[in-house]
Amino acid sequence: KKIQPKKDSYVIASDSTFAPFEFQNSDGKYEGIDVDLVTRIAELQGFTIEFKFIGFSSAVQAVESGQADAMIAGMTITDEREKSFDFSTPYFNSGIQIAVKKGNDSITSYEDLKGKKVGAKIGTESADFLEANKSKYDYSIKYLDTTDALYSALEIGEIDAMMDDYPVIGYGVAQKQPLITPIPREEGGKYGFAVKKGKNPELIQMFNEGLAELKRTGEYDEIVGKYIKDGS
Ligand code: GLN
Repeated sequence: KKIQPKKDSYVIASDSTFAPFEFQNSDGKYEGIDVDLVTRIAELQGFTIEFKFIGFSSAVQAVESGQADAMIAGMTITDEREKSFDFSTPYFNSGIQIAVKKGNDSITSYEDLKGKKVGAKIGTESADFLEANKSKYDYSIKYLDTTDALYSALEIGEIDAMMDDYPVIGYGVAQKQPLITPIPREEGGKYGFAVKKGKNPELIQMFNEGLAELKRTGEYDEIVGKYIKDGS
């Protein structure tokens, strides 16, 4: 038996740019793995959604304050976040990694970041990692608001290195952005769809049911394969 939606429409907050999970295509329309997954799951489970692509930390705040019912934004499930959010079944395995500009061969380990400026998007797992390891490796951190700003800061040399989720860096490399990843990635992050703790439990159930169905039918692999080709 199907789970019944409790709202006429659910507001889903997301990042403003986090390709290949959410980004505007050449027609200005949002697409990506997160967008396609939730759109299909809503169709299959019979609920209505309205996306708001407001940026990662804004999405976190929107869910916490009840302005959005849920978020999907390549959001890593962490113990800290589980204090204020309920997460779905993990839908994607990820992890974080340092990237530097192509041609920069002076940074090949975390130790080489000494005295350098390293960027991360505010409120992310990468930002937390950099903060936690700052005194160990002795770099400074520059926080950027958006992924676009982060990648441009590296490109124009405003920062020496940056940290981001490796599928996002990999997508950039596949799109011919001048980036390299000389330091092995930090594995283990898993993405989840999230609601405010204790709120909208039916939405998490419907997401989980729909995700399981997309996995069963192979449509999950089709959606991911549309954006991530082998090897990136
Ligand atoms: N996965 C990272 C996190 O949860 C980054 C998410 C993002 O930038 N949209 O913090």
